[in-house]
Amino acid sequence: MKLELDDEHQRFRQQVRRFVDDSLPPAIRRRIALGYPARREDTATWHGIVAARGWAGVGWPVEHGGTGWSPLRRMIFLEECMLAHAPDLQGFNLYMIGPVLMAYGSEEQQKRLLPRILNLDDWWCQGFSEPNAGSDLASLRTAAVRDGDHYVVNGSKLWTSLAQHADFMFTLVRTGGPERKPQDGITFLMVDMKAPGISIRPVITIDGSHHVNEVFLDDVRVPVSMRVGEENRGWTYAKYLLSNERMAVAKVGRLRDRLDFARELARSLSYGGRPLMEDAGLRRRIAQLEMEIRALELTQHRVVAAQAGAAAGAPDPASSILKIRASELLQAVLELAVEIGGPEALPAWPSHPADEDLASDAIRYLAEPYLFARSATIYGGSSEIQKNIIAKNVLGLK
Ligand SMILES: Cc1cc2nc3c(=O)[nH]c(=O)nc-3n(C[C@H](O)[C@H](O)[C@H](O)COP(=O)(O)OP(=O)(O)OC[C@H]3O[C@@H](n4cnc5c(N)ncnc54)[C@H](O)[C@@H]3O)c2cc1C
Repeated sequence: MKLELDDEHQRFRQQVRRFVDDSLPPAIRRRIALGYPARREDTATWHGIVAARGWAGVGWPVEHGGTGWSPLRRMIFLEECMLAHAPDLQGFNLYMIGPVLMAYGSEEQQKRLLPRILNLDDWWCQGFSEPNAGSDLASLRTAAVRDGDHYVVNGSKLWTSLAQHADFMFTLVRTGGPERKPQDGITFLMVDMKAPGISIRPVITIDGSHHVNEVFLDDVRVPVSMRVGEENRGWTYAKYLLSNERMAVAKVGRLRDRLDFARELARSLSYGGRPLMEDAGLRRRIAQLEMEIRALELTQHRVVAAQAGAAAGAPDPASSILKIRASELLQAVLELAVEIGGPEALPAWPSHPADEDLASDAIRYLAEPYLFARSATIYGGSSEIQKNIIAKNVLGLK
């Protein structure tokens, strides 16, 4: 396998770099560079800029308004965006509901919804997990009962990221009775978040931010036209979606960026009159993380190369390996940054300050990303669950 980019891809990288340099608003760049989470408006602004350039459909085929890029081009594009401190594009739209509709949605749904999903005219969120259904998602209880042209949905969802911003939620509901296997009685619905009967309660996480929510559905009427695919076949569509999610969670460029940030911090700080970077133990840790990130990059190259040869859109179970390593390394890098910051890295809430209030000294915003990243080995499927997938689907263990 060739790991160096050929001339064509080097040129592509330069083209993307110029585009991001020219078009990413400096205030947004600064916020992300300092490690703050993107606000809704930051994501919307950047997504709009990329969509106007015709590049929002990073992994989408041309017939649906996408770029038609190869997996390698996709990887280069996303890496350049992350290294330049751009916010992520809206992943629930682009990597989850969009591809599911392309694969399993009706022609009418594709025509009506995909352009709005691509351009972020509608903001989507993911309502899969429930209070008693996380890793064991098939035990979900939110139920839908058919009533003419509608389903009537009752139940609740938990950990729904950014539901407070969402226009729509894609969700899994139980439609089959106890005579069926749990996986065989699940239906995939798309719910209008403004429908009567929906209420949202924030869940504030350990970093003080409002990222996740509880979503309650109380006699919510969902038109049958908002069902994806067939009734009781939702598990198949959900598995496809979750595999794409794992790929999207593994953000190698962001890792490299955060390690550079930690290194710069170590260069700028002193202890006892000596620059922290003179500490051999610290230098060794940075070098170790550098090597591990490089190893992850190579794994990503291998997954991408394998994808290029696979059937279009086929999810790769090796994405679980990327997910585990990327989330563990993110935690390690952010922990290192907090240690470098020392006592000055204490939390500096609020997590969404106005542009003029952004900490001038990045040290003040180290603890929150570190704390939030504790969840990286849980969301998108916990590390233990990824290991189960690897054992079964990569190593072939039964
Ligand atoms: C910040 C954040 C954002 C999230 N965003 C969303 C979202 O937008 N939409 C959404 O639907 N969900 C979301 N989630 C939910 C996430 O997918 C679940 O938290 C995750 O799947 C784990 O489920 P759980 O929390 O119920 O834990 P549990 O499933 O109860 O697991 C508890 C522990 O047991 C372990 N465990 C469970 N089963 C096994 C097994 N079979 N073998 C070995 N170990 C096992 C787990 O690894 C974990 O350590 C989010 C979660 C977080 C923390």
